[in-house]
Amino acid sequence: MSAPVFANYIDGAWIEGPTFDNRNPANTDEVVGLHVKGTPEDVERAADAAQAALPGWASMNAPARGALLYKVADILDRRFDEISADMTREEGKTLPEAKGEVRRSINIFRYFAGEGSRLAGVLAPSERDRVHMFAVRKPVGVVGLITPWNFPSAIPAWKLAPALICGNTVVMKPASAAPLSAWRLIEACHEAGFPKGVVNFVAGSGSAIGSALLKAKPLKAVSFTGSCQIGNWLHEEASKRRLRIQLEMGGKNPTIVLADADFNSAVENTVNAAFFSTGQKCTATSRAIVEEPIYDRFVEAVVERTKRLKVGNGMEAGIEIGPCVDEGQMNTVLHYIEAGRKEAGEPRCGGQRLTGGAHAKGWFVEPTVFAGVTQDMVIAREEIFGPVLAIMKAGDFKHAMQIANASEFGLSASLQTTNVSRMYEYIYGIEAGLVTVNLPSAGVEYQLPFGGAKDSSFGPKEQGPAAIEFYSDYKTVYVKY
Ligand code: NAP
Repeated sequence: MSAPVFANYIDGAWIEGPTFDNRNPANTDEVVGLHVKGTPEDVERAADAAQAALPGWASMNAPARGALLYKVADILDRRFDEISADMTREEGKTLPEAKGEVRRSINIFRYFAGEGSRLAGVLAPSERDRVHMFAVRKPVGVVGLITPWNFPSAIPAWKLAPALICGNTVVMKPASAAPLSAWRLIEACHEAGFPKGVVNFVAGSGSAIGSALLKAKPLKAVSFTGSCQIGNWLHEEASKRRLRIQLEMGGKNPTIVLADADFNSAVENTVNAAFFSTGQKCTATSRAIVEEPIYDRFVEAVVERTKRLKVGNGMEAGIEIGPCVDEGQMNTVLHYIEAGRKEAGEPRCGGQRLTGGAHAKGWFVEPTVFAGVTQDMVIAREEIFGPVLAIMKAGDFKHAMQIANASEFGLSASLQTTNVSRMYEYIYGIEAGLVTVNLPSAGVEYQLPFGGAKDSSFGPKEQGPAAIEFYSDYKTVYVKY
């Protein structure tokens, strides 16, 4: 049976054309779908369609826009099982993880649908008599959304839903390694009955069509999640034309484990944050910084727990860790494992590609733990984005904080402790945008601002009320009566 074709969506129409393969990273024989390879001209037409649709969409009352977002959520809910399975097949994460992510996308659409009935502006008393003054929100305009493969539904959803509720029209460019989950959101918008041109979708390689999106005349803002390399380039391009921009990028997230922590839950939280989703979460832990008195016992317990993780095809029950998303990502992980070997010696567990039997047709790497890692080593400094954990020893809390903050990144961080004073010192002193205590460093909710510090992020935060700030502008009004 030939694989289904997923067309691009421009001005309310499905646009066919030459395609590229979307393959299952757990079984590369399986082509999950063929996605139409967009061209720079497609991007321009999509941006023009978004511009043409803008006045109508922006002037529709916001609760009515919200009603359409509720419909999208209902459609996704109805197809929950199918969309979740698609995600496992295209990205490799386990089915329970995929279901969790699709549930999150549905909740995001409902949350922002509800914002349609709020979208509060600002009301303030005037210093002048008989003057009424207030500020109302208005959309920014045509917005470009560029998304990564690791949360192929939730990240597109947490950009698309707030952009739409604020009255913007959009052009989305999904990641080429996992475009189907984002495509499912667009399909749901189509079925929900969005006016043509409000939502546009152009798949295709970033290097081929990214520049056309940044140069498209109608574009007023761009929201990007992905690597620092592409984010920095986008920032330069966007600055040339003063586009509003939001960048969420890489991380090197620490989990600090103090001697007073609940030992078993600290081990569980560290292993969960380092290896679930194959370590391919931007908020994954890649450095565990452990206080000296419990260091040896902690390394032993983490290694023992890691060896028990079941790696395989995420569609199978009981599998905890799926494959890397593609061969390139797997090779990057193997390259960093070699770098770790040279600097820190043999890993305490893992360290190999898995090739035989059930792993023969996928991009599987053993969950890998290095111990005795120090700050100067490559695996302690550079983002790996795979199932590799570096364990580092700290003399005390202060030393642990110093190691944790010695990174150019600042996305998320976790502390494992039962000491309340240490907890607050950490909350105020750690250089990260997302801070957890006695939880994994990964695992965020949509109701609060999301984003990092330092080189991990640039511009306003995403999600929660912060998203409304990015996707809307103010118009300030003074009335003499
Ligand atoms: P990436 O290579 O930067 O790609 C991200 C997106 O940018 C993809 O859609 C990609 O398209 C597109 N792109 C590539 N070149 C482009 C260009 N010249 N112009 C416009 N768009 C272009 O990142 P990734 O490998 O997909 O994702 C992994 C990275 O994302 C990691 O660094 C991770 O930490 C980060 N991330 C951060 C967060 C966060 O919230 N901070 C969340 C998730 C992931 P193609 O796929 O076609 O190349």
